[in-house]
Amino acid sequence: MQVMELLLNGAVQGVGFRPLVYRVAHQMGLGGAVWNEPGGVRVRLVGPAHRVAEFSARLRAECAPPARIDSLRTLSIATTDHAEPFRIVESMARGTRDALVMPDLATCPACLRELFDPRNRRFRYPFINCTHCGPRFSIITGIPYDRPQTTMSAFTLCAECKAEYENPEDRRFHAQPNACPQCGPQVELLDAQGARLGGRDWAIRQAVIHLREGKIVAVKGIGGFHLLCNARNAEAVAELRRRKQREEKPLAVMVPDLETAARLAEVSRDEEDLLATPAAPIVLLRKRRDADIAEAVAPNNPYIGLVLPYSPIHHLLLRALELPLVATSGNLSDEPICIDERDAVRRLAGVADLFLVHNRPIVRPLDDSVARIALGKPMLLRRARGYAPLALPLPVETQPLLALGPHLKNTVALAIRDRVVISQHLGDLDTLESRNAFEQSLADLQTLYGERPNVWLADNHPDYASSLFARGQGHDPIRVQHHHAHIAAVMAEHGLNDTVLGFAWDGTGLGEDGTLWGGELLRATRDRYIRIGHLSGFHLPGGESAIRKPIMAAFGALHAAFPEQMPALAIERLGLDRETAHNLQTMIEKKINSPFTTSAGRWFDVVAALCGICRESRYEGMAAQRLEHAMDANLFAWPYPFDISPVEGVIVYELKPMLNALLADLAAGVPPARIATRFHLTLVDIIVRTADAHQGLPIALGGGCFQNQFLLDTAVARLREADHTVYWPQRVPPNDGGISLGQIFVAAGRKP
Ligand code: ZN
Ligand code: ZN
Ligand code: FE
Repeated sequence: MQVMELLLNGAVQGVGFRPLVYRVAHQMGLGGAVWNEPGGVRVRLVGPAHRVAEFSARLRAECAPPARIDSLRTLSIATTDHAEPFRIVESMARGTRDALVMPDLATCPACLRELFDPRNRRFRYPFINCTHCGPRFSIITGIPYDRPQTTMSAFTLCAECKAEYENPEDRRFHAQPNACPQCGPQVELLDAQGARLGGRDWAIRQAVIHLREGKIVAVKGIGGFHLLCNARNAEAVAELRRRKQREEKPLAVMVPDLETAARLAEVSRDEEDLLATPAAPIVLLRKRRDADIAEAVAPNNPYIGLVLPYSPIHHLLLRALELPLVATSGNLSDEPICIDERDAVRRLAGVADLFLVHNRPIVRPLDDSVARIALGKPMLLRRARGYAPLALPLPVETQPLLALGPHLKNTVALAIRDRVVISQHLGDLDTLESRNAFEQSLADLQTLYGERPNVWLADNHPDYASSLFARGQGHDPIRVQHHHAHIAAVMAEHGLNDTVLGFAWDGTGLGEDGTLWGGELLRATRDRYIRIGHLSGFHLPGGESAIRKPIMAAFGALHAAFPEQMPALAIERLGLDRETAHNLQTMIEKKINSPFTTSAGRWFDVVAALCGICRESRYEGMAAQRLEHAMDANLFAWPYPFDISPVEGVIVYELKPMLNALLADLAAGVPPARIATRFHLTLVDIIVRTADAHQGLPIALGGGCFQNQFLLDTAVARLREADHTVYWPQRVPPNDGGISLGQIFVAAGRKP
């Protein structure tokens, strides 16, 4: 008889994988053992050598989601004359630590049936789960994933739960958060001041009553607190907006089921699948005109973000209410969500009327992920709960690296060998809470994976909180140019090791020359790039703080194109008063806080402000979104003219002719829908004509501008018509959420 060792990598821990191995080995009459290791799952097989291939094939064939085998290696072969029965042994913490920690998974259909089955011992129990579902990353404190290394360690399994936990034939075999009403966590309802009102099922039923009455309830879920209210109650939604000081940014809505989703939005098959994946992201969908929902949920917005219930608590609430609920992050502005009840009562004081909390601690904040279907494939716009920290493969081996990410929409990342673990979305690093989450996440990844890289990567902007943090720690990180990182992220995700033609279009990032880039054309390889072109630029009065003021960008663009007509043109076209216009003029001419920018995002601002679609932006990217929504994709329209002029060997896409034509359109009373459409088509035209001039190079599209559905869809369609190969971000957001991955990939090519 032979002894064979197999090492399996992938999503193999905490998903019922060892019972599968056990079953297959038993059925094939093989002896040996299986156990979890920090590096994955190891199997020792004892039996005839020729059966190992069949064994591996059966494992691959019978491995069902969420379990996934990424690699299967046969490690060593010896002989023995000792037969042994196959068994599952306790985890051992040895070997390398690149095992995949699983993300949190939505309640599975089997648990859902039990949750509402009055004969089941977990009937209406808000913490039901099994190896196919339930919390993972949000409760894990160490690797390997075992109960003592989760926040369930404080709960002792009762006899019945223990029997399930120890029975390899049971769906709850080694389900680490396994619990029941006798031995597990419980919910509680607190009033606005945090005083206990009651617990257990009473708390759930009370929360239902209050939600129906229009109250705002903070609910502790999987990755943190949500603020919930009845999405059909206009007053409740308005009150939530007022209390949260969130004027216009769309609010996500949790719906009881797919049927309700289909009554609020147009839902394709792909979108249905995305809503129902175990990751349960918020999915951006086209809102129905007759959607029975308060207008204030997503004001002036043709889209709506829907999410299905993903924890038993949500299921209990929504099954009883049969209503769509606003489900927005329990935080203020762009801070990370609250995860702790005392913290929530403090930070959400004056926002929530009631708190539905529980005593299963959350280790780290995990916001809801946000995704949409782009060109038939899911595209993540915010990668957090349900996706983090699934590792992505890198197309190159690297020394350990730690990426600190960007400033806005920060994520951090840790690379070990040929894998990269990207943290969940941590928010904008402008607040103390976000910076704390950022520092915790850096510490957290290094502790979990047992790797403390000496090489750190940071954005080339010296004043970003991440850069300041590195210096404070005595580190001198490798500086990665922001837009190179955008393109490198696309390359990493798609396994591209050769030269690409990259369009890096976003809000802003610091260029090498000290100006604000963002409309860049890069010829990039993994570790270097040449800026071969960019959109024409202008001086932006107010600099980076003008990002919320599209009118500033419009002033700057007019000033650059028609200096002799300023400030009169701005007064006429932008409705500025004489004094403001003169002040802006002085700022630009005296070079006071008016950096030069070539950002595509700022050009969206220019056009939005000139059309009167958005003069003041109330959240990041609002002007660009408004412009996209204003567009009529069915209009037959032409792009605006632009010039291509090389300046010192760099192509400048001169947009002055566009501005000229756009002003003529405005003067002629052309409606904003047509102007917005023509502007989008101009950008597409720039991409396609550039690609045609660089035959043979694959195209990579990266940066927040490619969240724009029309821009992405149309550019990709036109590029494919012209036989170009084109890549865009899918598993990692096109916005700055993907920067940490790009930073890793840029440095992965360098020698230590
Ligand atoms: Zn389950
Ligand atoms: Zn129990
Ligand atoms: Fe960016």
